[in-house]
Amino acid sequence: MGDPIVIALDGTSASGKSTNAKLIAKALGYAYVDTGAMYRSLAWHCLEKGVDLDNDKAVASLCRRWKTELRDDDGHIRLYVNGYFPEKEIRTAETSAAVPAVAAVRGVRKWMKAKQRECIQFGNLVMEGRDIGTNIFPETDFKFYLDASLDERAKRRASDGVDENLAERDKRDSQRAAAPLMIALGARVIDNSKMTAQETSALIIDAVRERLEATG
Ligand code: C5P
Repeated sequence: MGDPIVIALDGTSASGKSTNAKLIAKALGYAYVDTGAMYRSLAWHCLEKGVDLDNDKAVASLCRRWKTELRDDDGHIRLYVNGYFPEKEIRTAETSAAVPAVAAVRGVRKWMKAKQRECIQFGNLVMEGRDIGTNIFPETDFKFYLDASLDERAKRRASDGVDENLAERDKRDSQRAAAPLMIALGARVIDNSKMTAQETSALIIDAVRERLEATG
């Protein structure tokens, strides 16, 4: 058997990465990794510990020291913090607003890269985030970049009951110096403004299968 396959799914906020990554993972029998959840967990942990989010050194230091463990929960790879996965806490407006500051810290990105690469211990992966194709697994042949109009993305977030400034978060994610959000070389860009998740995921699954067949 060769090395595990990694499908890198990057894109803007609320572009459907999670929904599609889960559908693709299920169809192909791959494990699913939500790297945004890892950054969100660190932001939540900083808020819990009262660490100043503008103090890069303090954030990086907490990141180096926090006690975490990767676990496979039914095909969903999660980062547990002190034996706990903060599922609800990482989705609050407060945590969402705090993440970009934490995610811009170089020491944090270095730690996350090592941890995210460790995920291949669980086998083939669908990994979603902002820098998977550019920085975490640049060697993968399976890179996709999802986007949709701001209007459509705001509607999707609102239907999840979340009201946040997506444009501001995208701007901060795209303009940071360390591993900014951008389209990876060789990535297939999919604007799914007018597509359902079934259509988007089918497109990706077909492209992956075609390539796997072609390369034997
Ligand atoms: O994907 P999600 O919206 O949960 O990501 C939350 C935030 O985490 C992003 O806005 C970004 O600041 C950060 N992030 C990142 N790199 C990733 C995944 C998420 O910087 N690979």
